[in-house]
Parts: sequence; structure tokens; C-alpha cells
Amino acid sequence: MQFTRLRLNGFKSFVDPTDLVIQAGLTGVVGPNGCGKSNLLEALRWVMGENRPTAMRGAGMEDVIFAGTDQRPARHFAEVTLQLDNRERVAPAAFNDADTLDIVRRITRDAGSAYKINGKEARARDVQMLFADASTGAHSPALVRQGQISELINAKPKARRRILEEAAGISGLYQRRHEAELR
Ligand code: ATP
Ligand code: MG
Repeated sequence: MQFTRLRLNGFKSFVDPTDLVIQAGLTGVVGPNGCGKSNLLEALRWVMGENRPTAMRGAGMEDVIFAGTDQRPARHFAEVTLQLDNRERVAPAAFNDADTLDIVRRITRDAGSAYKINGKEARARDVQMLFADASTGAHSPALVRQGQISELINAKPKARRRILEEAAGISGLYQRRHEAELR
């Protein structure tokens, strides 16, 4: 699964629409402290269905919406679009006739998050499963947060086990068992 574009609008420090073309072989995003490098990675996790505000370094999910500065008012919504190359036909059947997939997540103040896949409304779970079934997603061990290596080293055994289970790809089984038990 190749990510080809990341579009941000009102997400954290990216108040103006920003279009990042992800070319095959892109290896680095560089810039001074505080310019938004980590925010970009968080946008990627967020559009893939991350639902823990703490993973976005916030107290509530609405904290991802541009909060305003002395010069600019706060925004009412944030939107992130991730474009995927679907020429290998990795998408679920309902969307699998398109060469590209646009996954959109939008959060509006007081109205929560909404998702779309190629213009059709989708549930968070549809988006999470699309990425999980392609062995990636918001919790993919391929995305390493700043400070995560030292967290791993200093973690208590239980927390370290959770990280290893995520890496082994079995945390989805717990999720499915949990859902089965609720039924
Ligand atoms: P470093 O090199 O220090 O890791 P970085 O490039 O990773 O820096 P980020 O952590 O991505 O930088 O960006 C931090 C900036 O984003 C800060 O200036 C912070 O004020 C801004 N920011 C975060 N959330 C919001 C928000 N909701 N609204 C406006 N700005 C925000
Ligand atoms: Mg950073």
C-alpha cells in the first residue's frame, strides 16, 4: 500500500490547506524545532483512525483543531485526507474498482469525527480495518513516535508486552474478542 498524498486543513499548526506529495523513496522531513514535523506524523495516524487524544498530545480530540494565534482566529474544524495508490487492489470490495483511494477524516467542534472513503461516508471501524488488513494503521509499529524508544526501554513489563503484541500483530485479536464478548 503506497501513500501518495497527505492533505491537511486546519489540523494543528497546518491552518492553511497544505498538500504534501509523498513520492516513492521519500525518506525525510526536515525543519527547525516546532515547525510541525511531528504534527505531520500525527495527521497520518489520525486519518487512519487513531482515537486516543493522548496519542495526538492532546487532552481531547478537538485539540487537533487549529487553536488560533495572536494573528489568526481558531478554526472550527480540522480535516486530513490521505490518498492511497490502489492499483494493487488492496481496498475492501466496496471501493476496490478505483485506482486511487481518498480517505478523509474531519472533526468539527462539538460534532466529533466523520470519515469518508472515496466520497462515501464510512465508519471509523471501516477505515481502521482497511489499514489493519493491509498491515498498517494508526498503531503500526512502522510509526515510531518521538520518545517512544526510551519509553520502550523504561516501560514496565505489562506495557512493554502491549508494545510487543502490537508489533506481533495480535492486538487486533484482543479487540475482536472484546467485541465478541460484548455481543
Ligand atoms: P521538534 O523538532 O521539536 O520535534 P516538530 O517539528 O516535531 O518539532 P511539532 O511538535 O510537530 O514540531 O509542532 C509543534 C507546533 O505545533 C507548536 O508550535 C504548537 O504550538 C503547534 N500546535 C500544536 N497543536 C496546535 C493547535 N491545535 N493549534 C495550533 N498550533 C498547534
Ligand atoms: Mg517533533
